[in-house]
Amino acid sequence: MKYFSTRNTKIEKNFSEIIMQGLPKDGGLYMPSEWPKVDINNLKEFDYSDLAFEVISPYCNDSIPQEELRKIINNTYKIFHHPKVAPVIDITNNKHILELFYGPTFAFKDYALQFIANLFEYFINKESTNLTIIGATSGDTGSAAIEACKLKKNINVFILHPYEKISDVQRRQMTTIIEPNIYNIAIKGNFDDCQNIIKNLFMNEDLLSKTKLSTINSINWARIIAQSVYYYWAVLHLKGGMNKIDFIVPTGNFGNVFAGMVAKKMGLPINKLHVVSNSNDILHRTISKGDMSIQKVVKTLSPSMDIQISSNFERQLFDSLKFESKRLPEIMRKFSIDGKYQLEQTIIDNLSEHYDSYVVDDKKILNTINLFYKKYHYISDPHTATALSILDKMNDENSHFISLACAHPSKFENAIIDSIGIKPDFPDSLKNIFDKEEKFTILENDKTVIKEYILNKI
Ligand SMILES: *Cc1c(COP(=O)(O)O)cnc(C)c1O
Repeated sequence: MKYFSTRNTKIEKNFSEIIMQGLPKDGGLYMPSEWPKVDINNLKEFDYSDLAFEVISPYCNDSIPQEELRKIINNTYKIFHHPKVAPVIDITNNKHILELFYGPTFAFKDYALQFIANLFEYFINKESTNLTIIGATSGDTGSAAIEACKLKKNINVFILHPYEKISDVQRRQMTTIIEPNIYNIAIKGNFDDCQNIIKNLFMNEDLLSKTKLSTINSINWARIIAQSVYYYWAVLHLKGGMNKIDFIVPTGNFGNVFAGMVAKKMGLPINKLHVVSNSNDILHRTISKGDMSIQKVVKTLSPSMDIQISSNFERQLFDSLKFESKRLPEIMRKFSIDGKYQLEQTIIDNLSEHYDSYVVDDKKILNTINLFYKKYHYISDPHTATALSILDKMNDENSHFISLACAHPSKFENAIIDSIGIKPDFPDSLKNIFDKEEKFTILENDKTVIKEYILNKI
């Protein structure tokens, strides 16, 4: 398996290179050169780790011996605190919720970041090197990355979050981990600003010459394949003779839903992927009418989806352009300069073969949390609720609908209290988070300031 960049298909990299590097220097994203097929019919009765091995191993075959990979995967998922790792809740006979909050930080990000940190550890040991990890977070990626890397040797982690734009629990999950290799930086800006700084630092020759840089954002390919696993897992769980399978996915950076697309490419029989945005609706405008224009980021009850530049959408565009992928660098260049791009009809048609898109605003989020509590006694976090709002309306009896539950409700207790007047139960390890000391640095929205800060610390 070889990898190239969405902006340059001539390069040939192997798995360890693209994982350790995270992002190519040309501003694109790494993509595998082919889609290996994994047949779900051969996976019945597999447990989560065995399934993960089957889905992930075709992507790393020449970089890690199979037995080492198996060990890494087993160690990754054995710390999850649910025997099924990612349980599927049946709310009716064809509507299901795939719960992805049984990792150490109670959001789906753990499923990939625990794995990627173990991969980093393996490659660092093997190559006797060290690594500086930089990442931007809209809330949950940061804590999952910090939790995964905090005790790893020869890794320094710098996480940028938008100052005062994430929930208290989200911030404290990061800033109360006080370890010498963990640096939390609050940027005076929004998530897109944080993500922009990260992308810029990756193109900074000076920084690249002084340290080995990588990223844990969903722009790192290892995160995508680790997330494709639970799409397979959910389908294995289904019983009954419906002939179609649809997934409904709360979406921000397009990582989680693109992992579903990858599973589909690998042969998982998915009908449609339903992309749900909050009021930051660029994905809905893009998918429904090709209008890729950046608007101001608004703050919502689902902060991890408060994004206008969905990085991973570039991977989908690359795929949708098929044989014209040479045009992608030009499209992305225009998009980045003008803040907008109008996609042509052939691309919109291709997108609509795979995706439907929706917008769910804060009012609907609160109503949906309330509705699901009353109807099914199910308490969902506000991100999950965006998808449940669509799940509730689905009425095709011939299809299974699987909605992804992305975070534990207690991470966003204010929205839950506003909606149903009940404080959600906190998992034990979150209970004392408000008593702990916090440590973070507030810095200007300026890539040079961040670069100097990093160079000073490593
Ligand atoms: C990250 C996150 C999302 C958005 O996922 P993407 O992969 O960025 O599309 C949605 N909900 C929660 C709770 C998240 O942490």
